[in-house]
Amino acid sequence: MRSLSNRRHAARAAVALLLPLISFLFSPTPAFGACVLLEVRQYFDGIQVKNEGKRFIRVEEGRITRVAASRSASDKSCKTFDLSGRFVAPGLMDLHTHVLLEDRSFGARLGSELVRVARMNEPQRLSSARGNLRSYLYSGFTSLRDLGNSGEGLDRKISNAPLRAARMSPRLFFSGPGIAVAPGQFNPEASPEVMSREYLIVSEATSAEDTVTAEGAVQRAASYGAEWIKLYADNDPSPGRLSPDLMRRLVRAAHLRHLPVAIHASSDASVRASLDAGATSIEHGDTVSTETLNRMATQKVFFVPTDFSARQCLKISNSNPDPLYRNCGEYRRLRGDRLLRAHQAGVPLAFGSDYYFPSSARGGRGAEALDSLVAWVESGLPPLAVLVAATSGAARVLGRDDLGLIRVGAVADIIALRASPVADFSNLKGLRFLMKDGAVLCGGKSRCVH
Ligand SMILES: [Zn+2]
Repeated sequence: MRSLSNRRHAARAAVALLLPLISFLFSPTPAFGACVLLEVRQYFDGIQVKNEGKRFIRVEEGRITRVAASRSASDKSCKTFDLSGRFVAPGLMDLHTHVLLEDRSFGARLGSELVRVARMNEPQRLSSARGNLRSYLYSGFTSLRDLGNSGEGLDRKISNAPLRAARMSPRLFFSGPGIAVAPGQFNPEASPEVMSREYLIVSEATSAEDTVTAEGAVQRAASYGAEWIKLYADNDPSPGRLSPDLMRRLVRAAHLRHLPVAIHASSDASVRASLDAGATSIEHGDTVSTETLNRMATQKVFFVPTDFSARQCLKISNSNPDPLYRNCGEYRRLRGDRLLRAHQAGVPLAFGSDYYFPSSARGGRGAEALDSLVAWVESGLPPLAVLVAATSGAARVLGRDDLGLIRVGAVADIIALRASPVADFSNLKGLRFLMKDGAVLCGGKSRCVH
């Protein structure tokens, strides 16, 4: 007994000795000095491109503490990275992800793919989600908003990953399960039991079996740690829609808990109903009218269109016979037209990819999200407006004025690209340096690879 307790004691002592080393290795703070200094020349501050000569960005304890034209005396103690030959920008943000979902049918059989995913074992699903998160991070995305199809609280599990997660995952904002009427996005014949693994199913009749009340659904989502409430105004591509009254009650219940509401709305009627109910952000809005876009601009409701690039459309059309993707030129024209109309109407725009299919691009899910950003440029939006939507514009949706910006006080999520994406958008795929929360994850000596 004694020798066992001695061994335990020795083990504990060894752990105590190793702890500083472990935290040194896995700490999100840089492993050198207390400050990092970035020498930059051309940089996008989240609003505009600055190119007025050399600037020194000082980072301490995860925040930007100084942006100046010259070094201060104390900067000498900082670890310095010369990024003056690169294009520097805030980390990118994708506000519409489903990192715990992969639809292998490319949308052709979403209903049955949801059954397969809902039955996956948890470790498998978490492991593939972690792969997606890592791919996002090393594609330059430092914040994501994940909007459901995340099982029962799996989004919270991946956001609560261990210390090392600081180096393996973007910051994750999440909604918990989406709230919808039956069958959610399953096929109508799906069992209520399987439906409830992916959606919080509500009904007009508060006592209906297998459903919960509006207030109960919001409470349940909140119990999963949700920072957003996700509603399905319509279940597109499955049948069913929330009634205006139910949607209003859900939004009211969310607001009572100070939770913002993201609403999946494909058609113009669904977008209008979502605006009536008090949405914080409208997702998709595929066929939204100019009149409704004007209303969104006036009410300052955020729009997160989720469009595929021409390359992604072609890939999807190989597996999905939906006439929408049969002619990718026409698909791009329709989506591009409504994105331009939204931009011209002055609707506050934020980027969301909604790409949850197997990824063909090198770099996985994150590289696919970069390609969804290309869709915005294909639509005719100026590259600068696209960068704003994927940085400071997205941060506004999250209510975070300390994200998506390079300025004093902002969280130090900073990327450097091989050259300016404003001049040539393909440079967005040339990540050369990555800092999240002030920690340098790649660049300098280590190459940025997925
Ligand atoms: Zn979605």
